[in-house]
Amino acid sequence: MKLSKLASEIAESPTFALNEEARLLRERGEAVINLGIGEPRNKTPISAILASAARLTSGEVKYTPPDGLPSLKKAVIRYTEENYDRLVAPENVSITNGAKQSLFNILYSILNPQDEVIVIAPYWVSYNEMIKMCLGIPVIVTPEDGTFTPRFEEIERAMTSSTRAIIVNSPNNPSGAIYPPELIEKIVTMCEAKGIFMICDDIYHKLTFDRNVAVPAYRFSNKDIENSHIIVVNGVAKLYGMTGFRIGWVIAPRQLARVMSNVLAQTTSCVSPIAQAAAEGALNGLQSMVEALRLQIQNNRDVVLQEMRMFNGARLIEPAGTFYALPDIRAFNNNSVEASRFLLKKAMVVTVPGKEFGMEGHIRISFAGSVKDVTEGMARIKWALDPTSPNEIYLGDKKMIRDWM
Ligand code: PMP
Repeated sequence: MKLSKLASEIAESPTFALNEEARLLRERGEAVINLGIGEPRNKTPISAILASAARLTSGEVKYTPPDGLPSLKKAVIRYTEENYDRLVAPENVSITNGAKQSLFNILYSILNPQDEVIVIAPYWVSYNEMIKMCLGIPVIVTPEDGTFTPRFEEIERAMTSSTRAIIVNSPNNPSGAIYPPELIEKIVTMCEAKGIFMICDDIYHKLTFDRNVAVPAYRFSNKDIENSHIIVVNGVAKLYGMTGFRIGWVIAPRQLARVMSNVLAQTTSCVSPIAQAAAEGALNGLQSMVEALRLQIQNNRDVVLQEMRMFNGARLIEPAGTFYALPDIRAFNNNSVEASRFLLKKAMVVTVPGKEFGMEGHIRISFAGSVKDVTEGMARIKWALDPTSPNEIYLGDKKMIRDWM
């Protein structure tokens, strides 16, 4: 069969593939713990349910403007003012099917073939594939000091005359790192001086722990929105645990927003008004649930830290935000794909190989789930990898025996 060379080269999403594998194992009755997918377990906020139900029962479920319902844009504008201290106009907002589509539409709307986009490792799995789909070239910057935060000079060194954009995801999936304000400031200054887009993937911006905060890039720019090269992406998936509603948005100069709106109109027409109403309900509803979710996730993070302290050999840079940890497991196996397969087979725990995020020798652990799953999952990982652990444990009511030492 003759298919598109470009499309055929796009990699499968490893998190979705592992999720499916875990689901099949669970269907067979195996006691699998999924620390793979980044998805909070909370129920949809009641304000979102009521708003979408009202839309549905009104029977007014038709096309909306391609870039979003005016009332949802209004809620996004208020969110931007409250959280970013920036007043933007409806023409600066573009509502999309998840933050994923926001990112794709931005890249599709700014890149010409062979344009380069700087991506900082460890990076979220989809950036490189999306850049390639838009005929661009991902240029990876990997911190040389073994941390998850690059030095500005390393970013500067990756710049060429073909650089069109840099993607900054802080708090970062998969490491949980938050880049320091000085680094964000330097990136903003560089982008504005050179006319390069700074794409801020802020999907985890409120999921920060202890005293850590993710400082918005806008803070370091005194340009108005129309002349700024900062593009902000956000959505309801992580902050409100509304992954299935598929609502994301972009804040951008109106010239770019207009192009993105045309791209939306010619591809998906618009986002379902039922989902848009739900997002509006979440943004306009009680915000205490965001803080409740953050506290629950911080508690899970503390469980991971506690377990890691007693884990001989594995090293972890403490996550400052998100719901991911990326421990270094090179003491046990340099090959993260092998390590993840091994953990699934022997300990029935889903993790994601660090290789997928440009960090070989690490595995990503999601602690977005229940505290019970996080605690037991961590115990199983330690048991399976640590040669000093006992020979037998029970996984649920199934006895597991170490037969690989
Ligand atoms: N950016 C990052 C860094 C993410 O981790 C994710 C989801 N895993 C997304 C974007 C996409 O979010 P959405 O579900 O809204 O498409």
